[in-house]
Amino acid sequence: MRSPSTDLIHHPYQPPAGFSAPQPGVYKASTVFFPNVAAMRARDWKHKNGYTYGLHGTPTSFLLEERIATLEGGAQCLLLPSGLAALAHVNFALLGTGDQVLVPDNAYGPLKALAEGELARWGIRHQRYDPMDPEDLARRIDESTRLVWVEAPGSVTMEFPPLRGLSEVCRARGVQVALDNTWGAGLAFNGFDDAGADIVIQALTKYPSGGGDVLMGSVVTRQEDLHMRLKATHMRLGWGVGANDVEAVLRSLPTLELRYRAQDQAARRLAQWLMTQSAHVSQVLHPALEGSPGHENWRAACGPDGRAAGLFSVVFEGRHGGAQVDAFVDALRLFRIGYSWGGPISLVVPYDWRSMRRPDLNTRARGDRVVRFSIGLESPDDLLDDLRQALRQLD
Ligand SMILES: *Cc1c(COP(=O)(O)O)cnc(C)c1O
Repeated sequence: MRSPSTDLIHHPYQPPAGFSAPQPGVYKASTVFFPNVAAMRARDWKHKNGYTYGLHGTPTSFLLEERIATLEGGAQCLLLPSGLAALAHVNFALLGTGDQVLVPDNAYGPLKALAEGELARWGIRHQRYDPMDPEDLARRIDESTRLVWVEAPGSVTMEFPPLRGLSEVCRARGVQVALDNTWGAGLAFNGFDDAGADIVIQALTKYPSGGGDVLMGSVVTRQEDLHMRLKATHMRLGWGVGANDVEAVLRSLPTLELRYRAQDQAARRLAQWLMTQSAHVSQVLHPALEGSPGHENWRAACGPDGRAAGLFSVVFEGRHGGAQVDAFVDALRLFRIGYSWGGPISLVVPYDWRSMRRPDLNTRARGDRVVRFSIGLESPDDLLDDLRQALRQLD
């Protein structure tokens, strides 16, 4: 007689195959079984025609990889535990001591911190370039430059760079281009065709998750050999993502485009209204709005009727000091104070412009205080009422 434990673990029942339902099953594993030793020895973790170990993929993670690769217009995808991990991963995989990496001056802040921290410590040099000026980028590329980062638009400062111009400078010099496509979400423009990137990363934390409750990143490529270099480092560093988080993103992807469009429309409406509040607002930074820095670059990449994320920043009139702008932010009721974006709840964060751009690479700032808005899925009318009542704090 076998013990109940053994019977419960080695139970013979197999549910019938062919279960079909709107959402895929969620497979969880560290260990994956092989039918025999020969099959185990024959397995190669690099290939997706079978399973080796939880870290190297499950049916659930393979499915999300394929869908994100499709979303970005790429061929291969790696998943990482956060968007920042995806940014870090590309640097770790492609750079070594003596190499140089170039980072846009308006890049996502922690990427600049990584360049100043670990990359510098490992003998990898970096420079910041003016993302609006391909000639500035060209001047900084030298024999040791292996990688150039681009991001459109800049986090917080919202200038939309001339993506084609930047990638052509790199292509002419044989330097690889990595794009942070979190803002575009694979919907506003194609990172490979429209931006000329070799590698497209995204913080799936933002729009693909859409819930404000998941952290994940992706690294998408079109070239198999480049993917394999990135994948080898991915394996050696031990990056993994949890199946429940993968499931959450898979569940949100069907509504990605609808949410992106709704948040885009609401954001443009609120941004346009804020432009009329000239007593308090000196500038509204939203790349789809005429007069915003890089608007013509946005048109070139996304098309004249193109899409945009539900994000914008507001530069306040110089006479409003930091304390007044903070009081405006505190007075908002529906907008919550918090980082990140792409979720159901509208968010707001005040920044000091001087900490976002280096003065020698940027002459465009008109005020010190900038507030970044991320529009959620609340009624735009209610959000507008909230902005109106909070602006009264500034009177
Ligand atoms: C949020 C964000 C990241 C990092 O994503 P996390 O998942 O929060 O680490 C990277 N790039 C951009 C542009 C982002 O907005």
